[in-house]
Amino acid sequence: MDAQKAKVRNGKYMKVKLTKILEMKRAEIQGKLEVAQQSFRKELKQTSVFTKNHPADMDNPVATSINGARIDNLLKCLKKIDLALKKVEIGTFGMCVACSKQIPLGRLEVIPFTDYCTPCKTEMGHT
Ligand SMILES: [Zn+2]
Repeated sequence: MDAQKAKVRNGKYMKVKLTKILEMKRAEIQGKLEVAQQSFRKELKQTSVFTKNHPADMDNPVATSINGARIDNLLKCLKKIDLALKKVEIGTFGMCVACSKQIPLGRLEVIPFTDYCTPCKTEMGHT
């Protein structure tokens, strides 16, 4: 058994697998984004009726709307996924930013754009 060859093959497999996970997540978020944008447009139509006399409320509808906040959040996720896809391409994806260890695939499947492995994240007091 040629260990080096096996490692390369494994790396290639991981790359394909990770790209698939990220692309699936991307499609999922894009779907959610479309729904949120539709709700947001509806919301804007409704609120513009009620806030006609309070133009100040409409200064920043994105900041004051739940759907606007959701859209903002989803766009951030998309950016993270794009960045992660680039990382997969150059081979640095799935590495914990804090301890440089490989983040377990199971964790990446749940949160593909995480920067930290579970122990590091737990240490920082997040989940
Ligand atoms: Zn770590």
